[in-house]
Amino acid sequence: MEHVSPLIIRLNTLHQELAAELQAIKTIAEFEAIRNKFIGKQGSITIESKNIKDLSLEEKRTTGSIVQDIRKKVEELIEHTQQQLITRLQQEVELQKQFFDVTAYTTNALESSVHPYTRVIQDLEDITMNMGFEIIYGMELETEFANFEALNIPVDHPARESHDTFWLTLPGKLLRTHTSNVQSHMLQERKPPFAITTMGRTYRNEATDATHDYMFMQFEIMIIDTKQSLSNLIAIAQEIFRCFFKNNELKSRIRPGFFPFVEPGIEVDIQCPFCQNGCSICKRTTWIEAGGAGLVHPNVLELCGVDSTKYTACAFGFGLTRLVMLKYGINDVRLLHGCSLDFLKQF
Ligand SMILES: [Zn+2]
Repeated sequence: MEHVSPLIIRLNTLHQELAAELQAIKTIAEFEAIRNKFIGKQGSITIESKNIKDLSLEEKRTTGSIVQDIRKKVEELIEHTQQQLITRLQQEVELQKQFFDVTAYTTNALESSVHPYTRVIQDLEDITMNMGFEIIYGMELETEFANFEALNIPVDHPARESHDTFWLTLPGKLLRTHTSNVQSHMLQERKPPFAITTMGRTYRNEATDATHDYMFMQFEIMIIDTKQSLSNLIAIAQEIFRCFFKNNELKSRIRPGFFPFVEPGIEVDIQCPFCQNGCSICKRTTWIEAGGAGLVHPNVLELCGVDSTKYTACAFGFGLTRLVMLKYGINDVRLLHGCSLDFLKQF
């Protein structure tokens, strides 16, 4: 059997190591580091190759050309890998350009716009935050207790019939039917005094038409303190509407109203912001129903663990969806929840 020089064996091993390391590279920097490690001035293959000078003349003759061959293969491997890497990196850049060209523009591109819901929510958040209210985002998946019982609406209460509820298959869980669920959570979790505002989606299992949808938005405020009064609540509600409709003269009026979670309860109407003598929006009455309000029922406070002899709370809520429709003259609620670009482009 032909004798294989230990030098050739070591060079072949280094060649294999080099090939294995080159397989894993991802960047030019990694490639350069490996090239240096093997064939740089101090590279292992470079140094190993120099050992040929210590061989006898006979050995040099037989081994020399084999060493040359190995060196040639190593060079070719390195050059081939470099070419492959450059090509791959170029392809990646091209691919990125294809997907991330943020400057891409065509004359047919649609301009984006802010949804009317978002505009009204931002307005109401600005107004109430400036008045000192803290904004709370409640949960849409709710317990029967927080949505009904804690708000003085027990199982047999007739008010439950008007809340056509989406019940979950989980026992005692539902999609909230109003944003007042936030009140019951806050009363249970916070120590008075505090003033909060909340807004968001609510759900009723009812047939949809131009004025009804299974999802609509509500907005409400609640203040709890040792001294709260209806007159304070009415003044706050009026101020919110004046700021919202940007009309400092906007008047409001109240009527008695019934809601299980307030006592006494009132309904607040505002002067129609769109006319002087009656229009189709106010149905020629010059007044628009704005929402329900009242002093929070002592039962609610007690059910939520608040001492009703010490604290009084007042709350006011209205349909945010209705407010959006009023503000933008939208006559079909379904447009707000659809994806009609013709409709959305107007805002
Ligand atoms: Zn009107």
